[in-house]
Amino acid sequence: MSLRPCLEPGCGRPTPRSRCAEHERQRQRDRDAARPERRTTAYRRHMAAAKLAWLAEHGPLCVGWAEQPPHVVTARELTMDHVASLASGGDPFGPLVGRCAPCNSRKGTR
Ligand SMILES: [Zn+2]
Ligand SMILES: [Zn+2]
Repeated sequence: MSLRPCLEPGCGRPTPRSRCAEHERQRQRDRDAARPERRTTAYRRHMAAAKLAWLAEHGPLCVGWAEQPPHVVTARELTMDHVASLASGGDPFGPLVGRCAPCNSRKGTR
């Protein structure tokens, strides 16, 4: 097994991989930190739990948007949407409402 110098600037420790063990770990941590909230397990659980709670309370109800009054969709069509949109700085773990995909995209393109 040939050793190469660690790719991390200023390190150069010989390693069989592209980075030494220490910098490999550091890189992994940086990647985790840079990962958007929506891709984490905690976020997926939050969304799944919110959808279950919404279905239990309202059924498969889409709240609609400015030009579409609330209407009933199927549980499969229902997605959870943030009350305060993430694009405008909303909390990913903040409150959610049920909204179907067509309403979600029409609302978003305005
Ligand atoms: Zn290194
Ligand atoms: Zn809808």
